[in-house]
Amino acid sequence: MTTEEKDIYAIGEIPPLGYVPKKMHAWVIRKDRHGNPLQSFVEEEFDIPEIGPSEVLVFVMAAGVNYNGVWAGLGKPISVLDVTKKDYHIAGSDASGIVWKVGSDVKRWKVGDEVVIHAMTWDHEDVEVNGGEPMLSETNKVFGYETADGTFAQFTSVQAHQLMKKPSQLTWEESGCYNLTLVTAYRMLFGHSGNELKPGEYVLVWGASGGLGSFAVQLAKTVGAKPIGVISDNSKADYVKKLGAVGVLNRKDFNCWGEHPDIDDEEAYNNYMKEVRKFGKALWEFTGKGKNVDMVFEHPGESTVPVSMFVVKRGGMVVICAGTTGYNLTLDARYLWMHSKRLQGSHFGNSKQANAANQLVSDGVIDPCVSEVFSWDGIPNAHEKMMNNEHKAGNMAVLVGAAKEGLKSLN
Ligand code: NAP
Repeated sequence: MTTEEKDIYAIGEIPPLGYVPKKMHAWVIRKDRHGNPLQSFVEEEFDIPEIGPSEVLVFVMAAGVNYNGVWAGLGKPISVLDVTKKDYHIAGSDASGIVWKVGSDVKRWKVGDEVVIHAMTWDHEDVEVNGGEPMLSETNKVFGYETADGTFAQFTSVQAHQLMKKPSQLTWEESGCYNLTLVTAYRMLFGHSGNELKPGEYVLVWGASGGLGSFAVQLAKTVGAKPIGVISDNSKADYVKKLGAVGVLNRKDFNCWGEHPDIDDEEAYNNYMKEVRKFGKALWEFTGKGKNVDMVFEHPGESTVPVSMFVVKRGGMVVICAGTTGYNLTLDARYLWMHSKRLQGSHFGNSKQANAANQLVSDGVIDPCVSEVFSWDGIPNAHEKMMNNEHKAGNMAVLVGAAKEGLKSLN
């Protein structure tokens, strides 16, 4: 930490504790440069965000790379700048950092606290936030996506409830990369009454080596459930098994992806069903003949939902939080009603779920699965890799205030 008070600090340089400079470095997306991350993320000197009475200014030590940074840069399916009504967007929904300044109403945090953040904001006065379910509040917004001041900057402003204690055994980069995907996976598996994942149950996890998937596999194990992971490259099989999967399938061994065929097109439908049944039988190798999975953990969307809906058991749930391959979901509705299946939407999690998930990391039960650590300059490239599905298994992290890898605390 330097003792010199300056207007702006270099990346990796830490100002005197609690001193707020005039400007900061930030990766900024603007409307006229929407496109691939290498084009849309541009470094700028930027004003430090203001904080309100119930907000906290955090000095970012490390940040996490998430798919929503890709969407924000692309401006697809919508430009987030149309949502925030701002002329800039700083992406980044995960971070570890240090409390730098607190609003007048903040009681639980003080300058110098080492924290991680969760990625959901809401209006404190909304009734759903007060005795209801904050994730059903019309006011909720994904931090760093639907809000403009995310974590790819030296400072970020958050609502106080977003803060959680940094797991002390982890480095800045390990603790800065996991909450968006971990909390989302936690709610998907345990947050939907009637179909919460239970001991002994099987869950099919798409993208099991990815951000969401690597946590779904680990979380399933914490309750004694049996995850079966899907990958597209056999080199990732051991990784997924080490996380706890009882079985792994390579989706490239099957040819039943994309929209459900027209049921009246007999030939196309029969060919399709032959391949879907082949996939279903491959699952029985792990579950036992005739036993379908209890839950499917969905996020690819368009290309996989028709199959997910077929292979889930009677009364089982397909829980979905994204449509990475497309939003046009198709399915054979006969199986939905005849077999009383459930297709459940899910989005991030509430503060209680976020804290429960973060506690599992603090307790050493869940590994943050850092795949690769990038320098500040590598932020656009990390997103480019993610967009092209060329990233390594796990979660990518980025150093911001932390001068090098391996540091765990300011002290
Ligand atoms: P990720 O780390 O890139 O993992 C996604 C995985 O999906 C990849 O590892 C890939 O694994 C698999 N995949 C890619 N193309 C596929 C295809 N055609 N069919 C089946 N699987 C395919 O991304 P992530 O962080 O897990 O995020 C995934 C999605 O969830 C993104 O769209 C993100 O925006 C969204 N998300 C939503 C929320 C929410 O709260 N709603 C929160 C977090 C993330 P293989 O190639 O090995 O199969």
